Amino acid sequence: MYLILHAALGSVLAVAKGRRRPLVAFAVGWLSHYFLDAVPHGDGGVVEWIQEANSAFRLALVGGAEILGIGLCIGFIGWRKAGVVPLLTAASLGSAMPDIVNGFELLTKFHLRVLEPLHRWCHATLEPWFPSVPLSGQVILSIMLWLACSLIAGRRSARQRIAEGRGLAPERR
Ligand SMILES: [Zn+2]
Repeated sequence: MYLILHAALGSVLAVAKGRRRPLVAFAVGWLSHYFLDAVPHGDGGVVEWIQEANSAFRLALVGGAEILGIGLCIGFIGWRKAGVVPLLTAASLGSAMPDIVNGFELLTKFHLRVLEPLHRWCHATLEPWFPSVPLSGQVILSIMLWLACSLIAGRRSARQRIAEGRGLAPERR
């Protein structure tokens, strides 16, 4: 699955949790990656497109677009609900960790015994029995989850403001 979708799910789970701790958000994001990767998925031919030219530039282009997309989503939600940026950043970073570990293994040839086998198992187990979610489905899911994240973050921050007695505008106090 694309990182922008992993980051969206990690962020939704992070803001849906009562206590907003970046470290917990990071762990939740990391775990959620394995569950999402277990859903059979296609990449719309993007991996083949990168491998076709064996191009670091193409890989950087796709990775850069994903990071830019995640940054824009976090920036937009953070602009509307200040204070959630560390949480969403931690969740997004955590949600990318299995793929970062995968990249680390590929580059260094140093094999991490548990993490990558678990990652591969998640990818492969359900794949033979269910149809794949295409790239378009992943885009739609990403948009829906980032919208949900924005709504949940807003609702909770309004509730928190009321709970903290800061619901009134300063001039009305
Ligand atoms: Zn993965």
